[in-house]
Amino acid sequence: MYTLINGNELSRTMRAEMAEEAAQFTESRGRQIGLAVILAGEDSASKVYVRNKIRACEQVGIRSFSYYLPEDVAEKDMEELVQSLVDNDEVDGILVQLPMPKHLDSEKILKLIPAEKDVDGFSVSNMGKLALKQDCLVACTPNGVMQMLKRNGIDPKGKCATVVGRSNIVGKPMAMLLLNADATVTVCHSKTPDLKEKCLGADILVAAIGKPKFITADMVKEGAVVIDVGMDRDENGKLCGDVDFENVKDKCSYITPVPGGVGPMTITMLMYNTIEAAKARTRSI
Ligand code: NAP
Repeated sequence: MYTLINGNELSRTMRAEMAEEAAQFTESRGRQIGLAVILAGEDSASKVYVRNKIRACEQVGIRSFSYYLPEDVAEKDMEELVQSLVDNDEVDGILVQLPMPKHLDSEKILKLIPAEKDVDGFSVSNMGKLALKQDCLVACTPNGVMQMLKRNGIDPKGKCATVVGRSNIVGKPMAMLLLNADATVTVCHSKTPDLKEKCLGADILVAAIGKPKFITADMVKEGAVVIDVGMDRDENGKLCGDVDFENVKDKCSYITPVPGGVGPMTITMLMYNTIEAAKARTRSI
């Protein structure tokens, strides 16, 4: 019998814990923790993400500074806004919603955000520190997966973990986190030979591929922990993951559903990173 790892429930628990921490910060520092969110353009999915981030800030007691810029915003204006937030002591974290409009040099803009305010954890500095197992702000989605493992008593130490996907925002930091937690990690991608065999060797299998129901039951070891990061649409347009949940679940000891698994954890971990950033900044002032 498998155990379902419920991301909604864990998110609620963590947000309640963080609300207490944020309130303590406000009381001791005389100001709220602050998160700045910039959205340029009209992308409807991005608007939903930004709205959810602002709502999470309200739940936790983090002050949000939101900026909605037109699709054709000048690069200079975007740079000046980011720089003003870098210089603003009331802002602990800065997030520029991706993707940015195509005419903007997103790499150049993101580089303006210093590591200590990079709550997405995507900067060269934070990724480098993660690789070196140093304290840093960790990308939200894979860090959320680590919380899901930890809070279900699943210790990666001594286990074989396979991560399918090597993107900079999920697969790579996920593999580094599992390695840092003493798992033996195999990272797979679209050029990996014998993918099935690599998946079958996994005590912990993380799917971050972007292909609906790609991981099938014959790829999963009996008793494995299966974490589905995918957010895909099936043939009927219904939200589903990278794992064929219905057929895989009975082989697992633990499994995350989609929706209601890793998804809700990402924004929760953004709140977590913002609190961590605020605490680290106040320690260094
Ligand atoms: P991505 O940048 O497109 O990366 C996908 C990875 O999967 C790549 O490394 C790719 O290999 C690999 N891949 C593709 N086809 C494969 C195949 N046939 N066999 C083995 N590997 C294959 O995607 P991403 O941004 O990491 O996102 C992955 C999934 O997670 C998507 O469904 C996305 O929507 C979801 N996601 C969810 C959250 C959340 O909050 N839950 C957050 C971020 C992403 P190559 O490198 O060789 O191309």
